[in-house]
Amino acid sequence: MSTTELPAREAMEFDVVIVGAGPAGLSAAIRLKQVAPEASVVVVEKGSEVGAHILSGAVIDPIGLDSLIPGWRSEDTPIKTAVTADRFYALGSSGALRLPLALMPPLMSNHGNYIVSLGEVCRYLARKAEALGVEIYPGFAAAEVLYENNAVAGVATGDMGIGKDGQSKSGFTRGMELRGKYTLLAEGARGSLSKELIERYGLAHDREPQKYGIGLKELWQVAPDQHRRGLVQHTLGWPLGNATGGGSFIYHFDDNLVAVGFVVHLNYKNPYLSPFEEFQRFKTHPLVSDTFKDGKRICYGARAITEGGYQSVPKLVFPGGALIGCAAGFVNVPRIKGSHNAMLSGMLAAEHVAAALAAGRANDELSAYEAAWRSSPIGSDLWRVRNAKPLWSKLGTFAGIALGGLDMWTNTFGFSLLGTLKHGKPDSATLLPAAQCKRIAYAKPDGKLTFDRLSSVYLSNTNHEEDQPPHLIVRDPALQRSSELGVYAGPSSRYCPAGVYEWVEEGGTPRYVINAQNCVHCKTCDIKDPNQNITWVPPEGGGGPNYPNM
Ligand SMILES: Cc1cc2nc3c(=O)[nH]c(=O)nc-3n(C[C@H](O)[C@H](O)[C@H](O)COP(=O)(O)OP(=O)(O)OC[C@H]3O[C@@H](n4cnc5c(N)ncnc54)[C@H](O)[C@@H]3O)c2cc1C
Ligand code: SF4
Repeated sequence: MSTTELPAREAMEFDVVIVGAGPAGLSAAIRLKQVAPEASVVVVEKGSEVGAHILSGAVIDPIGLDSLIPGWRSEDTPIKTAVTADRFYALGSSGALRLPLALMPPLMSNHGNYIVSLGEVCRYLARKAEALGVEIYPGFAAAEVLYENNAVAGVATGDMGIGKDGQSKSGFTRGMELRGKYTLLAEGARGSLSKELIERYGLAHDREPQKYGIGLKELWQVAPDQHRRGLVQHTLGWPLGNATGGGSFIYHFDDNLVAVGFVVHLNYKNPYLSPFEEFQRFKTHPLVSDTFKDGKRICYGARAITEGGYQSVPKLVFPGGALIGCAAGFVNVPRIKGSHNAMLSGMLAAEHVAAALAAGRANDELSAYEAAWRSSPIGSDLWRVRNAKPLWSKLGTFAGIALGGLDMWTNTFGFSLLGTLKHGKPDSATLLPAAQCKRIAYAKPDGKLTFDRLSSVYLSNTNHEEDQPPHLIVRDPALQRSSELGVYAGPSSRYCPAGVYEWVEEGGTPRYVINAQNCVHCKTCDIKDPNQNITWVPPEGGGGPNYPNM
């Protein structure tokens, strides 16, 4: 059967349809059932189980959790490690300068925060949601937005069992329509349906472009004498040059676990830069390398993080629904924290949805949610740090961080000398032609502290059905060859953290090979491709990484 002759989809009706079981989606679901117990709420999640696609640091600010589940501290939760020590370093190639915390604005303090696996926290939230009667369907990607009279009327999950050739295979199952009075998009950074809605309804009109970083992370079981339970350590500087934004995090938690990660801002200019290799190089610094001696790397993954902040948040509402969490982009960049705002925005939207349902409304604009967020704790959290990222981008790491810190201090007292700075270009427009840039030589991995991409992807437990339509769509292959390769020397083969893209020579002609089954759903290609020629769409539900506790 060809896809043009598919049978009609079955439809299920709900009050509220939520796309994505991350902190935003699950908090919205829980809050809805708390304030409107009769409301029917469904959550679809593309990971094989809740948490399978969640990757974060993570040090969480419990402000969201305290408001959602006030008694969580007396329960058995996966939130077991309070932050006990907080260190910040500027790195040179062999030295490290510890920055006094007293110089940092109070909002940077991690006192009172917790080190967690955000995936485990999401599993805990999912149990809470289900106990309240929320229906959660993991293993189903929301692949299509349903529209009625120019309003969003729900989503459809993707068909399963369609081959590469577009023909249905044995085991074919038609997707399901999940129709709702309101649909909340909680897809996280660069959500595919969220992107469609932002474009269709012009939600980013008059806003600064959204900015992103790519965050790569490994989880290590370290030797007991290297573990400092509760220690949070951040660095900036080496191995990145002053003109490239980013930095590292190292969090010691639970039983001898260390989360180590590296974020590279995706407005970098040199197409030869490889965020993956920079991360591997970072671990060799004398400040940190001993931590991993005699340790074992147990998991790897990567995910984009939103960095645009206050001035890049799009209009949150459209007829029939709203964006919540990082689908809108509520990360506080200097704090590298977004999960608290993801939760708070989910709750805030839920309260406005519940009020609309109580008033008998459906499929209209939740304008009160849009009006409320800037004066909520989310707005004040992002307002105070709104110039940090633009200063970092314009002045480089050291001057940018120094001036950004000063601006955050003045904002602590309610004013800024700088107003609200702009970001300028989207990240897809920042690469320079390769001819203007220097190649970067990266050392070979040693297999103990530093690794290659393929052995890393293996640790993400990534799996996709191979015989399915492509989920990485190159709109114009000729443009990819002439520009991505010809002008920019093939940056996708370096920015992709999973080795999905390769240019291989075949009979003297370069061929673009896309190893889609390795994709860890970080969304970097959709963001960074210089011609916006690559579009990420959800593959069959259940495919992708299977993170146990990232
Ligand atoms: C490397 C890194 C480090 C970070 N460190 C911290 C930290 O220390 N502290 C902190 O507070 N924040 C941190 N953040 C930010 C934090 O992770 C995010 O702000 C937070 O996860 C956003 O929550 P969310 O629910 O909006 O989206 P996500 O957590 O991204 O969840 C979205 C969910 O939706 C699912 N989904 C997406 N599209 C679809 C679809 N079409 N159909 C079905 N399901 C879909 C995804 O599979 C996923 O499960 C970090 C982020 C990164 C990348
Ligand atoms: S193909 Fe794209 S989304 Fe997938 S891992 Fe590579 S850069 Fe990330």
